[in-house]
Amino acid sequence: MQLTVEALQRWIINTNEKMQENKGYLSELDQAIGDGDHGHNMARGFQEVVNKIEGNSFEEAGSLFKQVAMTLISKVGGAAGPLYGTAFLKASDEWKEKTTIDQEALGKGMEAAIAGIKTRGKAQEGDKTMLDVWGPIHAYVTTQPLQREKLKKTAKEAMEKTKEMTAKKGRAAYFGERSAEHVDPGAYSSYLVFEALAESITN
Ligand code: ADP
Ligand code: MG
Ligand code: MG
Repeated sequence: MQLTVEALQRWIINTNEKMQENKGYLSELDQAIGDGDHGHNMARGFQEVVNKIEGNSFEEAGSLFKQVAMTLISKVGGAAGPLYGTAFLKASDEWKEKTTIDQEALGKGMEAAIAGIKTRGKAQEGDKTMLDVWGPIHAYVTTQPLQREKLKKTAKEAMEKTKEMTAKKGRAAYFGERSAEHVDPGAYSSYLVFEALAESITN
């Protein structure tokens, strides 16, 4: 598995398409256990990202993801924008001067991204957040050969598992036990991010 900078750029463009398509559903999820803006936040943020990167060519993965990160941090209100932004910023540090990302580099980038999300948001896996998708994907990427359908399935199953969890962080935590029975919106948007990644993998 080797992702060129161009393939990484297509990953982000594909992610934006999924955010636009699922904007209504993401906000619906956030209406149940939050303030109903997650679809709006993600769709706006990734559209801004695509406006910045489309038509540009990047020499290396680090500068591409730094641009992605800075746009998400500056353009997206709410919790998720800065958390996603931090994730991509930490990955961009790992991917400095890299013109291709292999599976090992992907794992290292994700590890840094997860550490960034945890430092910024003070959440752990099991708290019913985006981390409950990022964690299992990282575990998969670092232990098994990367395969398109398996990656999608891992992301989907991790997202679905957040349904039964009780939220400990973010707005959903105010709902306490009532947050169970609903999928976490940030876990769903993270599932879309990794579904888009899977579609960049050729096997
Ligand atoms: P807001 O809650 O500020 O309206 P969003 O609705 O855009 O922001 O994002 C909500 C999502 O952000 C949640 O579903 C959750 O996945 C994620 N999230 C919220 N707080 C945290 C946190 N402290 N750590 C990790 N993820 C978090
Ligand atoms: Mg919200
Ligand atoms: Mg909000």
